[in-house]
Amino acid sequence: MAQRTIYLDHAATTPVDSHVLAAMLPYFTTQSGNASSIHHRGRASLQALDDAREIVADVLGASLKEIIFTGGGSEANNLAIKGVALAQQQRGKGQHIITSAIEHHAVLHAVDYLQQYGFDITILPVDPGGLVYPDDLRKAIRPDTVLVSVMYANNEVGSIQPVAELGAICREHTIPFHTDAVQAAGSLSLNVQELNVDLLTLTAHKFYGPQGVGALYVRRGTPLLPQINGGGQERRRRAGTENVAGIVGLGAALRLAEERREWYVAHCSRLRDRIIEGTLETIPGTQLNGDYHKRLPNNAHLSFEHLEGESMLLLLDQQGICASSGSACTSGSLEPSHVLSALGVSPEQAVGSVRFSVGKDITDTDIDTLLVVLPDIVAQLRAVAPLYNTRI
Ligand SMILES: *Cc1c(COP(=O)(O)O)cnc(C)c1O
Repeated sequence: MAQRTIYLDHAATTPVDSHVLAAMLPYFTTQSGNASSIHHRGRASLQALDDAREIVADVLGASLKEIIFTGGGSEANNLAIKGVALAQQQRGKGQHIITSAIEHHAVLHAVDYLQQYGFDITILPVDPGGLVYPDDLRKAIRPDTVLVSVMYANNEVGSIQPVAELGAICREHTIPFHTDAVQAAGSLSLNVQELNVDLLTLTAHKFYGPQGVGALYVRRGTPLLPQINGGGQERRRRAGTENVAGIVGLGAALRLAEERREWYVAHCSRLRDRIIEGTLETIPGTQLNGDYHKRLPNNAHLSFEHLEGESMLLLLDQQGICASSGSACTSGSLEPSHVLSALGVSPEQAVGSVRFSVGKDITDTDIDTLLVVLPDIVAQLRAVAPLYNTRI
């Protein structure tokens, strides 16, 4: 019998839900049309876009005109950051941007790019749990600050930021506030009014929708310069033929994620806690990274002394278990991830870190299996670890 794959990498991507796939299929085939065409197929596609937009607006507590569909989370982050910063530079409002040390590269590298063109950047530090202090934001704000971007929940260590509080500070100073909510969707409330955000990023493949499609919420009145020029799609804010099937999938997936959110949080946090407790209690020399309480329900990020996370991933994979090393983005390099460095995790500890991210289809039996194979794998790797052997 084929081994069951135990997929514990939902923070990297999630499989498309079967209901979502069913909703998308007609738009690839029998219903296919360009939403800009005036014939009935085009009108049906336009209607499908409107329906998806309605769902997103409803879940976010926003209005239809405030939702822009994009080609994913990275694009939405780039549009938010470059679009808002450049629009205000054009109006002579200043060139200072504030972000945090643990953002996704789609934020950090977009900010780096602007720095090359004269923008001044302040990077807020985080505490050992991976949290930004609102007071640090307050102190960093200057008269020429044109944008603040702090993520809702971190993709590596799962820490959840005090977004509403940070947003309230930005509002006092009338500075646009963006949050990358990619990891929060399906687990946390996305209500933009309660969160005090002006821009919010989503991507469908992190909540059981397809890859390559995302959305950016932009509060009415927020200055935004389009970053992809061309046709007049998305109210002239993002040119290009809309990914109709993908957008239908994003809408269907967000609706489902919101409907099952309460169940999902309970389900995932129970499995997550089994991984965390099972590891910390039975394997010596282990540690949890990131804040325990202000943490995504599906994230268990653990460090194992005296072994390499990458080697552990290979041995886990041989057992049919998919996980991720500290950071997928820096895989293959020995540089510790920027997130773990910002938390103050030592390079040695960072090297031995593995992220397990559970999801809706993971079962207790899967976790049983993981907790059986994990101690063996750790023992096997430590047996050949030079540092570990000299110590005992
Ligand atoms: C996955 C991810 C992104 C990037 O989204 P893509 O759709 O893959 O471009 C951005 N931010 C966070 C926090 C993510 O986890």
